[in-house]
Amino acid sequence: MRTFGGVEAGGTKFSCVLGSDPDHILSERTIRTTTPEKTLAQVIEFFAEASEPISSIGIGSFGPVELNQSSRFYGYITTTPKPHWQNTDVLGTISRALKMPIFIDTDTNVAGLAETKWGSAQSLNFVLYVTVGTGIGGGYIIDGKPYHGMLHPEIGHMRIPHDKKQDPFPGACSFHGDCLEGLASGPAIHKRWGIPGENLSLNHPAWIFETDYVAMGLVNLICTLSPQRIILGGGVMRRIELFDQIRTKVRDLAKGYFDQPQFQDKISEYIVPPMLGTRAGVLGALALAKDRLAS
Ligand code: ZN
Repeated sequence: MRTFGGVEAGGTKFSCVLGSDPDHILSERTIRTTTPEKTLAQVIEFFAEASEPISSIGIGSFGPVELNQSSRFYGYITTTPKPHWQNTDVLGTISRALKMPIFIDTDTNVAGLAETKWGSAQSLNFVLYVTVGTGIGGGYIIDGKPYHGMLHPEIGHMRIPHDKKQDPFPGACSFHGDCLEGLASGPAIHKRWGIPGENLSLNHPAWIFETDYVAMGLVNLICTLSPQRIILGGGVMRRIELFDQIRTKVRDLAKGYFDQPQFQDKISEYIVPPMLGTRAGVLGALALAKDRLAS
């Protein structure tokens, strides 16, 4: 059995793993995200110390990430608001040090990839993964491959209806104010109510707004992408009680337009939590290493 590496590059931590699939993990390490120099040096050290030969490494990174292989900035984290990390050559820094095939994609694309390979969406061809947490992001997996297009989907920055009379909060996105992420990410909830979402009780009005906005985003995505299943992950969605409210609102917003079973009695199988939970990202990076080496 060949050994692969996976790195989930996040804003607060980098998770590194060595293995071949979820049932065959040889070692793991979590590294705190500080500066690119320090953090990437520790990532390189983890793989350099491996006792087994590594066939390839996959990286699932926070973004935006340049994924166009003909760009001179391929593999860079580009316009992130995260201090120190703008224009960071993540792929080049790791591949120059380790001299082996290294592949990169977004954290949400690889999480979606892991869910289609080992999780909630096995054997489906059109799978949407959406994360609602520190930011809102998404990956669209078509026939087992993440969709890229011009850059990669940035679904958190879609514009959705915002009734400022009912909800005067201007939004928290530093680029757009009240885009979906600006209204419904974890930091947006915190900024609007002055309390982090995890400390708000389930009957707090915050959740009416939250489930409304997430449902609006999902309906737009269903109308444009026609996914066969939507996996809804991220820190905010760990409140599993929100799922039924979101499903109901998605169905209400669709106004009977879709008569597929996914909008009738099968909606609880249509909008689902990630089976791999918080490990979808790092396992997805491992999946990326395997798939891209084989392709
Ligand atoms: Zn935005």
